[in-house]
Amino acid sequence: METLKRDRSARLFEEAKSLFPGGVNSPVRAFKSVEGPPLFMVSGQGSRIRDEDNNEFLDFCCSWGPLILGHNDPDVKKHIIETIEKGTSFGTPTRLGNIIGKLIVNNHRYLEKIRFVSSGTEAVMSAIRLARGYTGRDKIIKFEGCYHGHVDSLMVKAGSGLATFGVSTSAGIPASFAAETLVLPLNDLEGFHRLLKEQGENIAAVIIEPIPANNGLLIQDKNYMEWLRKLCDDYGILLIFDEVISGFRVGFEGAAGYYTIRPDIMTFGKIIGGGMPVGMYGGSAEIMSHISPDGPVYQAGTLSANPVTLAAGIATLTKLLQVDFYEDLEKKTQYLSKNVVEFCQHKNIPVRVQNIASIFWIAFSESRVQSADQISPESNEYFRKLHSKLLNKGIYLGPSAYEVGFISSAHSYDDLDKAVHAICSSLEEIFS
Ligand code: PLP
Repeated sequence: METLKRDRSARLFEEAKSLFPGGVNSPVRAFKSVEGPPLFMVSGQGSRIRDEDNNEFLDFCCSWGPLILGHNDPDVKKHIIETIEKGTSFGTPTRLGNIIGKLIVNNHRYLEKIRFVSSGTEAVMSAIRLARGYTGRDKIIKFEGCYHGHVDSLMVKAGSGLATFGVSTSAGIPASFAAETLVLPLNDLEGFHRLLKEQGENIAAVIIEPIPANNGLLIQDKNYMEWLRKLCDDYGILLIFDEVISGFRVGFEGAAGYYTIRPDIMTFGKIIGGGMPVGMYGGSAEIMSHISPDGPVYQAGTLSANPVTLAAGIATLTKLLQVDFYEDLEKKTQYLSKNVVEFCQHKNIPVRVQNIASIFWIAFSESRVQSADQISPESNEYFRKLHSKLLNKGIYLGPSAYEVGFISSAHSYDDLDKAVHAICSSLEEIFS
């Protein structure tokens, strides 16, 4: 098999290493868990991206989720250019803010008021502060296997044994911060209930990725999600849905709409910025009235609700509201998943494709994976081989076994056929 030409990317990476830690500006981009140097991209159009060595790939990373319309969508581009013609930032409110605000609030039953920020991490950090300010309590609960950005109090994993208090997963986080976070496994209602009985009155918020998509795709059962809602209500705890990935992806109303569960606060990012840097959080008017300048919880941002971002967001969200947008995407995802799964079953290859809406994850397992500890340790090695084979066949997946894939409206059925063929033939080579 021909191996990918990577000379230019490799040279740029060597140079980048002298400029940025690990040569990158976000760790997973460094290709640490897959083969070869990272590919330096030059352009993207529709479902395809092109790198410095002029290799073209069908892209299933889609900038980690924001590009639900694919690369360089003509309407998004047009809106961005028209806006930039008038200036890039004013540090004042703009009409675009009202337009996107109405677009979101009028089409999402659980959002009454929103606030824009510049990243998903910032949205989550602000939501946690709001929950603490609102309840007057300090502790929060998070779940093993959910990622919420690089917020101090959420870069935390479970302590050893039965202890639920958090241990930080990054240097530089004071133990006292981590101790304010309690960590539980996903899909363990009994453990959750027990913890609330012990500590419920100290807990400000429970934060969950309602469709956990950062440690594989760990889809939870609806009744588990409903119990979380009920128990939070019983103990006066705010339920935060971190919808940075699932928001506007699993439907316009995201996971909250999918489960028909009203979270108290929701956090967003990715899709609402149409590929520009963005974050957002929101909830009921009553809870949001605690944010400054209406209320005592301070939160601000120089470039928040940047007009160029908002223009890209308006163009994107408008298209998502078109009839059958989400249905068409889901059909494509099921087409890809079903074809790979049928092939694997036929060939006795122990692989499944877990999927929801337009998110999919290739799991090296024969049974459903619903929590982080069920992910087989060999997955990394299998994925490393798969990733390398797929790059050689012109398919780009996020460079980690734990990252999900995304399908955009720009992916055609021909694209999907090409991907299915490449995935199946690669798996067959790996497992033969
Ligand atoms: N929350 C979730 C669920 C995410 O997936 C991410 C990033 O992938 C974040 C928060 C952090 O967002 P950002 O990378 O924009 O800071």
